[in-house]
This record gives sequence, C-alpha cells and structure tokens, in this order.
Amino acid sequence: MGRVLVIGAGGVSTVAVKKIAMNADVFTDIMVASRTKSKCDKIAADIKNVKVQTAQVDADNVEELVALFNSFKPDLVVNLALPYQDLSIMDACLAYGVSYLDTANYEPLDEAKYEYSWQWAYKKRFEEAGLTAILGCGFDPGVTGVYTAYAAKHHFKEMQYLDIVDCNAGDHHKAFATNFNPEINIREITQRGKFYENGEWKETDPLSVHKALNYPEVGPKESYLMYHEELESLVKNFPTIKRARFWMTFGQEYLTHLRVIQNIGMDSIKPILYNGVEIVPIQFLKAVLPNPGDLGENYTGQTSIGCRIRGIGKDGNEITYYVYNNCSHEAAYKETGAQGVSYTTGVPAMIGAKLFMQGLWKKPGVWNVEEFNPDPFMKELNEQGLPWHEQFNIDLEL
Ligand code: NDP
Repeated sequence: MGRVLVIGAGGVSTVAVKKIAMNADVFTDIMVASRTKSKCDKIAADIKNVKVQTAQVDADNVEELVALFNSFKPDLVVNLALPYQDLSIMDACLAYGVSYLDTANYEPLDEAKYEYSWQWAYKKRFEEAGLTAILGCGFDPGVTGVYTAYAAKHHFKEMQYLDIVDCNAGDHHKAFATNFNPEINIREITQRGKFYENGEWKETDPLSVHKALNYPEVGPKESYLMYHEELESLVKNFPTIKRARFWMTFGQEYLTHLRVIQNIGMDSIKPILYNGVEIVPIQFLKAVLPNPGDLGENYTGQTSIGCRIRGIGKDGNEITYYVYNNCSHEAAYKETGAQGVSYTTGVPAMIGAKLFMQGLWKKPGVWNVEEFNPDPFMKELNEQGLPWHEQFNIDLEL
C-alpha cells in the first residue's frame, strides 16, 4: 500500500495510470506529472473511480523533481518519460529517498547508444539508501525477462538458447507511424544489430539478418534480428545461455519509409541550423509524425511477443519451450483508450509497481526484472489483461 508518482504522460503512462487506478486498494494516492500538464489532466479526467493529482515537472531538472517529491511524498516513482530522463530521475530519487521503476534503459540524448552500465552504476547508492530501483519493467524489456526467469525456475536445469520474438501484426491504417515515441523507436531500429554467442557479442548490419517466423494466431511474419537491451542483463543473470538473440517483425511499407527517412538524413540526431534556429532532424520528424498515443482508434490486429528457449529440462533431457502473450489492439483501446504497444508496456509497469507496494518486489539496490521472483508477476499478468500461454517441445524455427 502506498503513494505512487508517475512521470510522463504519453501512451504508456495513459495505460499505466488507468491500470494503477483499477488497483486502488494497493495504490492509495496517485499523481501523474509531466512536461505538459494538460496531458496529465487529460489522463486524470478519464479516471472516475479515484482522484488522480497532476503536476507540471521538467524531469531533466533534479531540483524541480526533488521539490515535487517533497510536496507529494511518493513511496515509488514510476518513470514513463523518455530514456534520456532515467539518470536525472534516479538522482532525484536518491536525493529525496524514494524507490524507482522504469521501462527503458538510459540513453544519452546526443548518442544513439543504450546500455545498462550507467544505471547499474547506481547499485551501491540505492543499496546504501535502502531503496529499490526496478529497471526495464515494460514488455520488452520487462515481461520477456520475467518469462525467462520463470522458464529457468520451473522448466530448465540449463537454459542454452534464448530467442525473444516480437511481432506486431496490427494495422493502424497510417502510411507510416511508430508505435511508441518515434525518436526512441527510430534510433533503436536503425542501429547495428547485435547478438550474444559463446561469451561474445557479434554485430550485424542493421536489419540485415531476417527470416519468416510463425506467430500464434498470426501466421508467418518476416522477423529481423536486432539488438535489444534486455539481452545485456539476461546473459549476465543467466550465464548458462550460449546464444541470445532478439527478433522483431516489420512490414515492407515500414521498412521503405525508414530507408527514405535515413537516406534523406531525417533520422539524424545532430543539430542543424534552420533559418537561424537550431533543430534536430529526428525531433522535427517526431513533431510531424502521428502521435503514437493517438493511433488506437482504428488499430486492428494484435501483437504477439514471447521467448523461445532451448536447453536441458529439469529431467535432464533436451527441451524446447515457448511462452508468449497475444494482445489485441482493439481490446486494449476499448479498455484504456490506447493501442496494444502502449498497453503491453503500461500494464507490466503497473504490475511491477504493485508488487513493490506489496513488498514482493522490494530489495535495496538496482535490479533488472529477472532478478525478482517471477511467480507473482506471472499471476498478475493473467489477471491484469496480458494472459500468457506455453508450448513445449515444438519446433522453435530458430
Ligand atoms: P511518449 O513520447 O508518448 O511519452 C513520453 C512522455 O514523457 C511525454 O508525456 C513527454 O512530455 C514526457 N517527457 C519527455 N521529456 C520530459 C521531461 N524532460 N520532463 C517531463 N516529462 C517529459 O512515449 P511512450 O509513452 O510511448 O513511451 C514512454 C517510455 O516507455 C519510453 O521511455 C519508451 O522508451 C518506453 N517504452 C518501453 C517499452 C517496453 O516494452 N519496455 C515499449 C514501449 C515504450 P510531452 O508530452 O510534453 O512531450
């Protein structure tokens, strides 16, 4: 039981705050604060069962954050702003003395690069302060880490091959749009591919490795190997893994638009002077693209995200295992007013926050989700709208 402060008021926050309000027995007081207060007010106005407070805050400014924490007195800060704000929010949490949860790892604004080292470096300080920091508690990262921990706990003596497969078989009926913040999304997809094999990281040209994979209730979809942040923590926390890869589906139309955006330099993160004003091309592009938070209304189809794992089972024989969730964009929109990608991220963020409040996911230090007990999280997934399914000893196609 406790007071939660959510920072950010985009698509993911819209879902998370609604779900937090649906679990009002655990979250006694709720505040949503972001750069643009009117967006927080809009989220709060849609919630009828409990009062949600709102505030304006610049999450890049530690002093402003600490002042807000002093006035609201949260027990947990849920960071659903952008990865650029992770460190300033963690600094503010330490300065005030409150625990922390996020869904994406830190990325410097001027360098399209993300890795956990920056946030892991806070471990000792959180430990000494007796505070918990839960990193990457969305779907991927997030549920994929919990799935892997659950597989390790209940099905495998030794996990050896892990493939995370992320399919969005939805249609938003726009020529081009990204499903979450366009700047973060395009930075992620255009970087070099990377996977882990036999103790080494191997690189590939961006989206150069691909194959058709079959997704439940969806069928075959071309899936592209790319780097994703949870690979870094999963191979560290499960050292028996010999190979870990991440695959995501993209349609031809999306890839064509992406290629053009890159060819004309609109994905650049370097500032340029335009009519005497400094602008960053990718930030300008974000301003003209559809807002991911508004895609829900006509979104049809579903997402299918899961882990395909091969290794030695509890009985000593080789087994294959597939655990996944399918999420309907239409059902997500009907329930929360947001599309499936915001839903699959916002619900796990709420679950992580709930388990923290209940004392089940609470330990001083900085942790990735797979370092907590997966069982209560898996139970909540079934109850909060993201049910999971298991398949054993099937052809993993990988
Ligand atoms: P949006 O861009 O829709 O929302 C981001 C919000 O953060 C906006 O309300 C924005 O304010 C606010 N914000 C940005 N900068 C600041 C700042 N300096 N101070 C205060 N508020 C700020 O993003 P999404 O909702 O799509 O994504 C939210 C997070 O979730 C991102 O970090 C994203 O990477 C992550 N994510 C994680 C996934 C996972 O599975 N783990 C999947 C999808 C997303 P304003 O409205 O004024 O711009």
